[in-house]
Amino acid sequence: PYCHDPCHLKLNPVPITGESCYESRTMAKKKKKKLRVAIHKNVQKRKRRGAWREELKVDETGEMLTQQERISGKGKLSRKRTVIASEESAPETSLPHLSQPPPLAVDESQCLRGRVISVYGAECEVESEDHKSYKCVIRGLLRRIARESRTAVTVGDRVLFSITGEDEGRIERVEPRHGSLARKYRGREHLMVTNVDQLLLVVSVAQPYLKIQLIDRFLASAEQGELPARICLNKPDLVDPESLAPVVDLYRQLGYDVIMTSALTGEGIEILRQSLKERATVLSGQSGVGKSSLLNALQPGLELRVRSVAEDNQKGRHTTTTARLIRMDFGGWVVDTPGIRQFDLWDVIPEELEAFFIEFPTYVENCKYPDCSHTHESHCAVKEAVENGHISPSRYESYWSIFHEDPIE
Ligand code: GDP
Ligand code: ZN
Repeated sequence: PYCHDPCHLKLNPVPITGESCYESRTMAKKKKKKLRVAIHKNVQKRKRRGAWREELKVDETGEMLTQQERISGKGKLSRKRTVIASEESAPETSLPHLSQPPPLAVDESQCLRGRVISVYGAECEVESEDHKSYKCVIRGLLRRIARESRTAVTVGDRVLFSITGEDEGRIERVEPRHGSLARKYRGREHLMVTNVDQLLLVVSVAQPYLKIQLIDRFLASAEQGELPARICLNKPDLVDPESLAPVVDLYRQLGYDVIMTSALTGEGIEILRQSLKERATVLSGQSGVGKSSLLNALQPGLELRVRSVAEDNQKGRHTTTTARLIRMDFGGWVVDTPGIRQFDLWDVIPEELEAFFIEFPTYVENCKYPDCSHTHESHCAVKEAVENGHISPSRYESYWSIFHEDPIE
């Protein structure tokens, strides 16, 4: 009895426990230790609501969000260390110190549970389980520990927080994380967003035209981090639908979930909604493919909020790459942030690349040379598979171009 949810197809099978697999996975992480400690009384002065973002620009954690740190690397492969990783499956080489919060002692009866929606320097917006928003500071102890090597609090964190004012609080403890999007910055790992369940790669079939290589690059990135990926083909209303069949078939045969949607006609929106339900999804894809339009189609009325996120991100350079969670009314969260939308995850060494093209490893073991790069070698089983039609030429081309660090046209 294993879960066949598409989100697990490429992860270890998850035994069915009665709850949905999503719940059982999240529940498994919540092994609580009960300890009693004193909680500090609030000694903070209230600040004006409008001012707090501005004050935090030079904060310790805000410092991590300067201009040098842009993640996107359109065209050429980025040389920065940026990976997705999940707690259980991160290969040692890509994330030696995946940041886990310290298991601090907290009097749980004095705390609320919530989720971090956004982080501005040292302060966070936390949404409680009953959907109220709190402006939270971070407990000193958490921050001190974080200074050494870890990210104290990041977007997506599940936290316990104490109430210190009408809509204010203090984060007392951060729960264990899974599925993080991280990058290295100044020798330290910086988590951009955590507790992510899947990536949704949005591509448009026209305007801008479909770039197969870009799909493959994103998929390989998702494989690298072992984060399940779904592909959303948007704007099918602009082309002859039959012309898309080969693309849809190719990726479905590889095991990826492909959803055809049109934000314009509403086609596929319900299927997309079901795929996002009860999960935290990072939206990615080039600008102009229709991500905002899809969000608005999924959740009419979201329009204002989407726009305000974009505005936030134009305001100051320190927020350029700051992620933000958007709560979906049908259940689940979406991370849609310009800085993360087009991220290029690459810091892959060429020898690792074959593993991220999921159909390659079956053939690799039959290559004559154990260190075969599947490019110039003779008796290469991968190239033979391409010739025999077992590996799609377009996939091989993508492999080739990433291997040679060719820019995408
Ligand atoms: P984003 O940059 O990915 O958020 O893309 P937008 O949501 O801003 O959309 C870019 C453009 O594509 C807009 O002019 C939309 O109206 C248009 N668009 C989005 N979805 C569709 C669709 O399904 N069909 C068509 N024909 N146009 C769409
Ligand atoms: Zn080979």
